Amino acid sequence: MMRSTINHLAQLQELILIRDEQRSIRGPGADMSVINQSIDAMADTLDPEVKMNFNRLYKKDHIVMAPMNNGSCSMCGMHLAISQIQAVKLCRQVIACPSCGRVIYDPTGAKWVAERKPRSPFEQKVGIARFSSPDLMLHDLRGTTPAEVISELAMSLQKALFVDDAAKLTEAAVARENILGTGIGHDLAFPHVRGIEGGGLSLAFGVSRKGVKFEGASQTPSHFIFFSTIPTAVSAFYLRLLAGLSDSFTKDVNRNAALEADSPEALWKVITKATRYSLK
Ligand SMILES: [Zn+2]
Repeated sequence: MMRSTINHLAQLQELILIRDEQRSIRGPGADMSVINQSIDAMADTLDPEVKMNFNRLYKKDHIVMAPMNNGSCSMCGMHLAISQIQAVKLCRQVIACPSCGRVIYDPTGAKWVAERKPRSPFEQKVGIARFSSPDLMLHDLRGTTPAEVISELAMSLQKALFVDDAAKLTEAAVARENILGTGIGHDLAFPHVRGIEGGGLSLAFGVSRKGVKFEGASQTPSHFIFFSTIPTAVSAFYLRLLAGLSDSFTKDVNRNAALEADSPEALWKVITKATRYSLK
């Protein structure tokens, strides 16, 4: 019973964040009626008291659900009591963070490995290098389905020691695709997984010459696939990254350069140059 309430809340949260993503890509005038209907239908299945609490939190901030990370609320950092940690793990009751009031849940899926520190204090990272690196560039994706290319990109994140389990990461990203595809048109797709806590945002970028059909607003196969892991606390920043990348890669000069890249290093040069002004 309680587990299903928490699952419903998590799905509602996901839909709300998807709506925010759509707004940031498609602009404020876009038609949101389909996703609005899904959100209303999901909200109507909640117990009235739970729904009221959800709406109250939503008015403050669109992040209503906070994943637990090392026994703490990942949004405000408040450490939970042992009894609360147990209750969250067992899904026995809806546990609110004692500090920020958000609903705490136990995230499943891949775990962050370790934040990669700069090699020296002089290696100040700017722009895209804050979230990505040359070893996360796949200039020639082989997969022919969203699950296959997501798996290739997830594997690059595991090899580069960003996450511990590419298979779990892929599974979570495919589950997210099944709610609403992240193909946004202009041959771009933005698969992602939220709730990979304990580190920063990470971005792997792949180019598929054949193209892969992602569901979503896109009618044509996606050639440019941006795969992110997003700690919940930086969800708002992710929307800016999304807008910056989609702005850069709707321009022919950047798309053509990405298609011509014949090595990870060449693709890294393309994304660095393309986002120089859109990502500060
Ligand atoms: Zn909190």
